[in-house]
Amino acid sequence: MEILLKVFFVRSKEQIFCPCCDGDLKVIGSRHRECIKDTGEKMDLVIRRMRCSNCRKIHHELPDIVVPYKRYRIECIEAVLSEDTKLSVPADESTIKRWRNWFKELVNYLLGCLMSITIRYGRESVEEECHLPKSKLQRIWHYVGDASKWLARVVRPVVNSNLWLHTRSAFPAQ
Ligand SMILES: [Zn+2]
Repeated sequence: MEILLKVFFVRSKEQIFCPCCDGDLKVIGSRHRECIKDTGEKMDLVIRRMRCSNCRKIHHELPDIVVPYKRYRIECIEAVLSEDTKLSVPADESTIKRWRNWFKELVNYLLGCLMSITIRYGRESVEEECHLPKSKLQRIWHYVGDASKWLARVVRPVVNSNLWLHTRSAFPAQ
């Protein structure tokens, strides 16, 4: 179950192709973004800017430790969503509540993305959907497994397939 999306990850790690047209991406620069570690410490990330040599669109490589538009490292958000109490999360109650709501609003969309990605890569047929477990989180785990870094395994293929919703108003930075 955990290796459903493996083909996609291996490909995107070794060479990233344009999510729009599958063309070759060339690194043309980088930008910085800040993110907060589980210790509360801030860290600076360098994100590479890439241009497709075919359709000329610009893409940004997403490191697997962040969620787009979120300032905290992904394992903090993941710990809250999986109700893992082993990791201390350096965020206040209202931030934690916003992460829960964010996931609740987004989960159906993410499930749709994961399903279309697995179908696109010939990993699963539509008929299998009715056998999926009922809880939303369990359904997410059906695609990516429940081992640590599951949220990264959800976010990365969605972003790399150009399916992430790039609207700051709908999903404000938290
Ligand atoms: Zn392209």
